[in-house]
Amino acid sequence: MTGLQQSEQIYLDNNSTTPIADVAIETIEACWNSRLANPASQHQTGQVSSRILNRVRELVLNLLDASATKFPADKLIWTGCGTEANNLILFGRCLDERGRIRPGNLVISGIEHPSVTLAAQQLQRLGVELRIAQADSNGVVSLDDLNQLVDEATLAVSVMLANNETGVIQPLQSVSKLCRDRNVFCHTDAVQAIGKIEVSFEALGVDALTFAPHKFHGPVGIAGLLLKSDASLQPRLMGGFQQEGLRPGTENIALAAGAAAAMHWYFTDRNRHESKLRSMRNEFESLVTKAIPAALVIGKDVSRLPNTSCIAFPGVDRQEMVLAADMAGVACSTGSACASGSSDPSPVLQNMGLSPAVIDSALRFSFGLFNSLDDATESARRISLAHSKLQSRSHD
Ligand code: PLP
Repeated sequence: MTGLQQSEQIYLDNNSTTPIADVAIETIEACWNSRLANPASQHQTGQVSSRILNRVRELVLNLLDASATKFPADKLIWTGCGTEANNLILFGRCLDERGRIRPGNLVISGIEHPSVTLAAQQLQRLGVELRIAQADSNGVVSLDDLNQLVDEATLAVSVMLANNETGVIQPLQSVSKLCRDRNVFCHTDAVQAIGKIEVSFEALGVDALTFAPHKFHGPVGIAGLLLKSDASLQPRLMGGFQQEGLRPGTENIALAAGAAAAMHWYFTDRNRHESKLRSMRNEFESLVTKAIPAALVIGKDVSRLPNTSCIAFPGVDRQEMVLAADMAGVACSTGSACASGSSDPSPVLQNMGLSPAVIDSALRFSFGLFNSLDDATESARRISLAHSKLQSRSHD
């Protein structure tokens, strides 16, 4: 193949959303074809739906190593998206039953997804004291900062399990221990971690965890919140008594079942899936950095998700580079999907204290289970060509 006019685009934007797996589609279709009744209905037909929902709930709790059987069991609350789940946690912890701000502070890290950062800023405008822990230049959140910021008046701590832009994995067990020692509620946004690394709710020791199936080849339009049995939270929505009143509204059984099917598919072959992701990502990085010696892999010296590669191309503008990559047949992004199209520099990379040359030229490449090793090789070739084309233009 010559030139950059390849017909097939290689999709390396899986941290934004993943293509849905066949098993999830089949499960959703089976639910729709059964024309299920409302699981809250008392009649027998409704009870069939309720039993399906319970089975799905138990499967997800078991896969994520939460307790489905002990009494009282850990809770699984379905929401419409990861953003809603994160908002529910932050507002649910900081507001009282009358919707007033509770006295105290909220602690988050400086590298959270906008669904945490912007919710926290809104709470700050309403009167909550917002405290922010910094990350180091590798993208790891400072435990020293957290140690200083978290105190008896902390209403909640929210630190993500893995960052969506860099893939850097955070020391959540230490974060949760620090919270437990102070009797403080600890939440983790595990949206990017599930489907890429092992995640055990029990071992993490957190009180709440957010996940989003569309990041692991499940359906979009549904997400979940795991809650420890004794976690207390105020709802954001008022309505029926579904999901213990924490997120009222008729549950979407088909999407919940599709989400559980995708999770089960990933977990039954987790090691193989992870090593596939890792070998594609490593191959891609090694080819790109060989072809472009100035390219800098962000977070490469610390524990990272196996699928994510955040690479800076100093001297090249990231917006121009993402367009050049697109023209060359590689779909990637300049950072969080929620911020894509924005020309503002990434708050995550800024928080890490990276130089403007790095921040302004960083792109995110994220592999998924639908990619192949050939995709890794070919996309590295296309990126190198796109890069040299941009460079030669800037030297004209
Ligand atoms: N948290 C993280 C770390 C994410 O990467 C995303 C989505 O990109 C979200 C939360 C929000 O998830 P959703 O798009 O389902 O609202």
